[in-house]
Amino acid sequence: MPARAYLGLGSNLNHPPRQIKSAIQAIAKLPGTRLKCCAPWYQSIAIGPGSQPRYINTAVEIDTVLKPRALLQALQQIEQQQGRKRIVRWGPRTLDLDILLYANQALHTRRLQIPHPRLGERNFVLYPLADIAPGLNLPDGTSLASLLAKSSPAGIVRLNAGGSGGRAG
Ligand code: ATP
Ligand code: CA
Ligand code: CA
Repeated sequence: MPARAYLGLGSNLNHPPRQIKSAIQAIAKLPGTRLKCCAPWYQSIAIGPGSQPRYINTAVEIDTVLKPRALLQALQQIEQQQGRKRIVRWGPRTLDLDILLYANQALHTRRLQIPHPRLGERNFVLYPLADIAPGLNLPDGTSLASLLAKSSPAGIVRLNAGGSGGRAG
């Protein structure tokens, strides 16, 4: 049985819309994986150090037979293919792919934490996620709706063009 997972996507370098589009295509081609739904895109102000270009952020829903660690590895490969360089923490990047949620699993290893530990404090993650899965609950029972209610849309703008999402088969 495939697991349902939610991924967060972000880019603020080298033509972000192109990066996000290409990442979604690559995710759709992952082995044993079906892209189910794409959230609208948001423009957000960078939270990292220094002055950085704005981000494009979005989220996707997938069904996958890849286990969490294999999924992380596959996503990091896509980041590499799109020229991701890790220079400074939270520095600008061509592509960032995070596993936000994976089925109803909680995982706390050094290399992988699920749910994504900073999901609840990031409006640029919560908003697109709620657009595609408003009824979601975290493994500890916290509802996405309650996290969203505590979050403000300050600093993010929903974009109509380019990424407006949709549900696939
Ligand atoms: P943040 O984690 O705050 O969003 P970031 O995305 O910039 O920061 P990265 O440099 O992309 O951080 O990733 C650092 C490490 O985070 C990765 O090498 C990976 O092992 C680890 N990691 C832990 N949990 C997750 C997760 N749920 N999704 C993706 N990476 C994760
Ligand atoms: Ca991230
Ligand atoms: Ca990341």
